[in-house]
Amino acid sequence: MQAAIMHGLGLPLDIEDVTPEPPGANDIVVSVEAAGVCHSDISGLRGYLGLENPTILGHEVAGVVTEVGADVRGLRVGDRIIGSLVPHCKQCFWCLRGQSHLCAETWSVRGVTRARTASGDAVTSMLGLGAFAEQMVMDSRLAVKVDSDLPAEQLALIGCGISTGAGAALWTAKVQPGSTVAVIGCGGVGQSLIQGARIAGAARIIAVDPTPFKREVSLRNGATDTVDPGQGPTAEQVKDLTSGRGVDYAFEVVGRMQTVTDAYESARRGGEVITVGIPSPDARIDLPATDFFRAEKSIVGSYYGSTQVASGFQVFADLIAAGRFDAEGLITHRYGLGDLARAFDELEAGEVIRGVVTF
Ligand SMILES: [Zn+2]
Ligand SMILES: [Zn+2]
Repeated sequence: MQAAIMHGLGLPLDIEDVTPEPPGANDIVVSVEAAGVCHSDISGLRGYLGLENPTILGHEVAGVVTEVGADVRGLRVGDRIIGSLVPHCKQCFWCLRGQSHLCAETWSVRGVTRARTASGDAVTSMLGLGAFAEQMVMDSRLAVKVDSDLPAEQLALIGCGISTGAGAALWTAKVQPGSTVAVIGCGGVGQSLIQGARIAGAARIIAVDPTPFKREVSLRNGATDTVDPGQGPTAEQVKDLTSGRGVDYAFEVVGRMQTVTDAYESARRGGEVITVGIPSPDARIDLPATDFFRAEKSIVGSYYGSTQVASGFQVFADLIAAGRFDAEGLITHRYGLGDLARAFDELEAGEVIRGVVTF
């Protein structure tokens, strides 16, 4: 099968013919229909995610089950599935407490040999998925069956961008009706977050991004105001829009410490800061401790939008089908597997909200 293989840091992505490994008793084989191109793929290429090499890149994916291991329960050949970034084992400490996004089995499904190169080298798959390939051989606990007629490229986005973004508003922060929200960073995840805040009933949604195109798209997704950080300090502009107070919820969707600080300063006294962006491994958060205490602000990390995938993916599919969440509006570019290098360039250049590879 054709797959996009990362051989190591700084090396170009190769589209190669590799031979899939046979599935184990708890594995399934999935025919990939669509895979989203996400900033985390670029983070992987840069070494931020500590991926083993060689590995099949790609992690935002929808497809159809074509083979099921002997011990797999609850999945059948022909099922439509969305790939989850974390397993849902239903047995660990976290899964039993409604925090399956922190599942203890997360590392056991990664680093497994899933294919061989022509010269016989073992190939793993990014986050246990490896979506930039015609097929995925994967742990069945990473697959979530969905009952949906939606196009595969829309379902694929649920697997990462939509859950991470909209989940942060709906499930991590539990944005309240009538509240005020700032979203710093308006790529695919930020735009999903804006839609999540809109669905939650936020009264003011302030989209912060230096790219005019992304600010413009954010207004279509439910933002009520936009801020260009190039026009002055973000927090001052956000406060100007909120009677000088700042917002109830300030979401950081970039992964840089400057934007975490911007989010902190944009939150009102008693407000909440939610970090969604992926920081570099050595980053530290440095904030004024006295103000943190006096202003009673809280900071919370949002991993995968706190999404409980077993039920949450279907929630998003239903919101899209009902016209309440606009997934098609997030897709600005379509690619073939051979166009991936260009897809990454265009994503980094800020020209893309979401690009999708279809097979
Ligand atoms: Zn992603
Ligand atoms: Zn678990």
